[in-house]
Parts: sequence; structure tokens; C-alpha cells
Amino acid sequence: MNISEGMMEPPEIVEIDPSVDTVACDGGDGAMGHPVIYLNFDDKDYVDCYYCGRRFVRISPVKKSAHD
Ligand SMILES: [Zn+2]
Repeated sequence: MNISEGMMEPPEIVEIDPSVDTVACDGGDGAMGHPVIYLNFDDKDYVDCYYCGRRFVRISPVKKSAHD
């Protein structure tokens, strides 16, 4: 089988607090590391790092709902 581009492993998803407008990414440790950059969400709920491909997604912390 000859697998060409487009078959790389999916990007890592990083959950971000919805109150955050800017995230910093340095790719983490290891081979994916890169200079620190800052990414703005603007009006979107996600932003992709153009260095390492990680996707930052703003997710509301609504895991448990209060019982009232
Ligand atoms: Zn990155």
C-alpha cells in the first residue's frame, strides 16, 4: 500500500476554557516542539496551531449540572 500525504495521524485536541481569547502554543515537548506562538480565537470556538497542527477548542465546563 502506498499511503501519500493526508494520512497523518489526527491533530491533538486541546480543550481551552471559553473565557480565554488567546492561547500560547509551543508544541509541547519532543519532536513537535516549536517557538512559542500566540493564537487568537477571534470569533471562532477553535483555532489550529500552524506549527504543530494542534487544535485548541473552547469548551464550556458544563460536565456536571447543578441539582436544583
Ligand atoms: Zn503548536
